[in-house]
Amino acid sequence: MSFLEHKTIIKEGDLVLAFIGRDNLKPIYVTPGQAVNTRYGTFAHESMIGLPYGSQITSGKGYGFIYLLHPTPELWTISLPHRTQIVYTPDSSYIIQRLNVISGSKVIESGTGSGSFTHAFARTCGSKGKVFSYEFHEPRYLQAKNEFEGHGLTNVHLTHRDVCANGFDVKDLQTDEPFYADVDAVFLDLPSPWEAIPHLQSVIAKDRAVGICCFSPCIEQVTKTIEALQKHGWIDIEMTEIAGKKWDSRKEMIREVDDAVERLKDIQKRQAEGIEKKKAWIEMNKKQKEKDVANGVPLDERKRAAQEHIAENKRKKQQTERDYGFNPWVN
Ligand code: SAM
Repeated sequence: MSFLEHKTIIKEGDLVLAFIGRDNLKPIYVTPGQAVNTRYGTFAHESMIGLPYGSQITSGKGYGFIYLLHPTPELWTISLPHRTQIVYTPDSSYIIQRLNVISGSKVIESGTGSGSFTHAFARTCGSKGKVFSYEFHEPRYLQAKNEFEGHGLTNVHLTHRDVCANGFDVKDLQTDEPFYADVDAVFLDLPSPWEAIPHLQSVIAKDRAVGICCFSPCIEQVTKTIEALQKHGWIDIEMTEIAGKKWDSRKEMIREVDDAVERLKDIQKRQAEGIEKKKAWIEMNKKQKEKDVANGVPLDERKRAAQEHIAENKRKKQQTERDYGFNPWVN
């Protein structure tokens, strides 16, 4: 199984991304005897072997299902085990196109971190290109090395190195001989990229334009980075901020002027009717009270009847409010 090409059928040992929900993807290395436990049930790894990627499987109890997705850098970014902050797809896709990274490109990336961006670079550069990735934290370097091997990222050349202190020069992994990396693009996701910039001259291409992106969250870092870039001959420097925004779709009532005029006329008519009705109601109540007193109806009984009447009236008003969306009787 490799992130650099697509395979159809799931085999033992393959990486499958179990899609449990939109924000819930679980990486699984298919191992007979093991199972994935989710709130939708338990799914045996054996049941995945021989199925095409993209299949839906049920838990066997019939109440839950998951999808078995083929890994892509985008899906890996949202499912990978985090060791550091990572670069997410909206940023990595923008950076890749701004740096003009294409199939066959040679790229430098540091630090490797959790390897999120490395997967995106590796897929874009393809088998004819190369990704030189550097990480100085040993456990992170070892974990990334393991993952890149398991994910078939054969075009990634990973080095355990402090690039700020020791630069980017590379050696052949088999022969240990130094060679000229001749890279087209550089991506620095480091706390102090200005310390790494002076070391780039010996590894970047000399015969074509080279792009660099320094990924920094705060303006103090940006200022220092720009100073270092200018000092070391980089030109056309720009700062870009990408701010994500969620777009919601909501149902809205469309109000035309004619509708509003109709509504106002209707309200005026109802108010006029209401005033008349209220007058008639007060008069009727007065007469009823006089009649009840003359007939000797007890006070309690008269109060109960009046309360029922008020409640009924209130119910009618509420209904009108529901019909109109507001109370047309209140100015
Ligand atoms: N871009 C990565 C990703 O998408 O997963 C995340 C990189 S993480 C924010 C920064 C990494 O740079 C950390 O793993 C850190 O150990 C490494 N680092 C910091 N300074 C370094 C240096 N001087 N040389 C090499 N690696 C360094």
